[in-house]
Amino acid sequence: MRFDELARSYERLEATSKRLEMRAILVELIRPIRPPDLAHVLYLSQGMLRPEYEGVELGVADSLARRAVATATHAEEADVGRRAKASGDLGTTAAELLAGRPRLETAHPLTVANVYAELTAIAQAKGEGSQEVKVRTLVDLLGRASPLEGKFLVRFVLGTLRVGVREMTILDALAEAFADGSKAARTRIEAAFNLSSDLGLVAGALVEHGLDGLASIGLEVGRPIRPMLAEREPTLAAVLERMGGTAALEFKYDGLRVQAHVPKSGPVRLFSRRLEEISAQFPELVADLPSAIRERPAIVEGECVPVDADTGDIQPFQLVSKRRGRKYDLDKAQTELPVRLFLFDVLLAAGTPTYSEPFPARRERLESIVRPNEHVAIAEQRVVASVDEATAFLDEAISAGGEGVMAKSVKEGSAYRAGARGYWWIKYKRDYTVGLADSIDGVVVGAFHGRGRRAGKYGAFLLAVYNPERDRFETFTKVGSGFDDAQLAEMPKRLAKFESSEPPPEVDTGISPDRWMRPHLVIEVRGAELTLSPIHRAAVGAIRAGAGLALRFPRFTGRFRDDKGPTEATTSKELLEMYRLQVRQEAADPPDGADAAG
Ligand code: ATP
Repeated sequence: MRFDELARSYERLEATSKRLEMRAILVELIRPIRPPDLAHVLYLSQGMLRPEYEGVELGVADSLARRAVATATHAEEADVGRRAKASGDLGTTAAELLAGRPRLETAHPLTVANVYAELTAIAQAKGEGSQEVKVRTLVDLLGRASPLEGKFLVRFVLGTLRVGVREMTILDALAEAFADGSKAARTRIEAAFNLSSDLGLVAGALVEHGLDGLASIGLEVGRPIRPMLAEREPTLAAVLERMGGTAALEFKYDGLRVQAHVPKSGPVRLFSRRLEEISAQFPELVADLPSAIRERPAIVEGECVPVDADTGDIQPFQLVSKRRGRKYDLDKAQTELPVRLFLFDVLLAAGTPTYSEPFPARRERLESIVRPNEHVAIAEQRVVASVDEATAFLDEAISAGGEGVMAKSVKEGSAYRAGARGYWWIKYKRDYTVGLADSIDGVVVGAFHGRGRRAGKYGAFLLAVYNPERDRFETFTKVGSGFDDAQLAEMPKRLAKFESSEPPPEVDTGISPDRWMRPHLVIEVRGAELTLSPIHRAAVGAIRAGAGLALRFPRFTGRFRDDKGPTEATTSKELLEMYRLQVRQEAADPPDGADAAG
């Protein structure tokens, strides 16, 4: 496949923000493609070279890309810099410069295979001399590129490709391009993706063996599974009712979710909730898991929490977040901020998948294969059948340092549902009993200049929730409170890469911030209550025509949700559910109870 076909499709994708149109363009693009190009096109279109969990990065800084553009177009580097500053996008500048340069007649047109191979070489160049290799490879590619191709190549290497196709849209397109486009087909394709986290792999199996071929995609040690997620209920009585009167309650530990892949021999790999590999951050878990798990290869899931080195007591979450992303002083961190992994599920044991077994069978298996040690334990659990029993267990969980309980269905159908949020698991935190107590994970889509003490900095941020049905980020609040000076100073750095001169097409809002941000950074906020708003667009029209949901008195909790990608933020549907719970709660509470919500 020629690369210019892909570039032309990107141009069309960029020009639309309608999901149906995007899907149609994608279907047209991918239908004629076969492996291995197919997988490569899908990864490239998401701005990646490999499935996200592999964490492959190109390692191309702005300055390096500028140098490559200057060399390839025989321009002065300083001039390239000036032009890119004016256009706000080095890709656009590269296209302009390439347009003014005579193209080699003899050059072969770029193919997707060439581009993919060269980009892979750029990613693989490591160590001494690697910068030169990266520049040279990029110069070669740009030397053969048309202006349009050059624009997208530059954006790709800088990580600023803005075609905006996310997984959900690609899954739709796969169902239409390679199956009958029905809901049933879409569901089967998504299920294969949830188990493998690899769209290229799923697309390949689908094209070569049809929908039935997807059954061949199973679990593999080292390839993360998309996590099963929980719903909420406002009271323990409601939790039990949902569960049919009986449920397995577990301590809800407040830490980092970890999916551990433990091979028969060889290194253990740990993945975060958003499937990033975090093995390097927790060497003690990597070291202790093999002896703690009897039947390997195994895939187990748990929550990693900080514990007191002397007493073994659970410590506040903030301590474990310090261990994330930490590259230095790992030895020091291990002794100063010790952690323990509380396992709550098993998806593969002795090489055989267990995820489709009902939860009680999985729990039994978990108990039989785990030999607890200093760093590995099993989540506390009790099966309860009354509100009194449930309340007593909740009290135990809270006093042991948990933040509430996780209720798990013990019914026949209680298989592990990868990538799905449902009432098979229900989270209940103690503070749900007062008004809107749960926090919301919002995506930053804009920023406002500060005034007074915050002059010259950002003073507030526009936040959105994610709507997977529309594949849009719908705003629900503008938050300025709760940031300390250090956090506020950190925001421009965290956001710099995502600034956008135009409103990003995937953002839906009635407000214009001073600066738009492409959806990336997720932060946790709390607020007094959810209300209806004419300017915010979260779940717009669900309660009243033209009105979206908005959070009153929002406050940043201090927690950056680096373990969540933008599409894993709170969803519009969840926000709507929270709004409804709050309305029910108000109806049930005496007036002074409602006051406590502020
Ligand atoms: P979500 O994961 O539902 O999007 P979130 O990341 O904001 O939401 P919470 O709302 O606090 O997290 O609750 C869900 C999380 O609780 C799980 O993803 C998991 O990390 C954690 N957790 C703690 N204890 C357990 C347990 N016993 N069983 C399952 N999950 C648990």
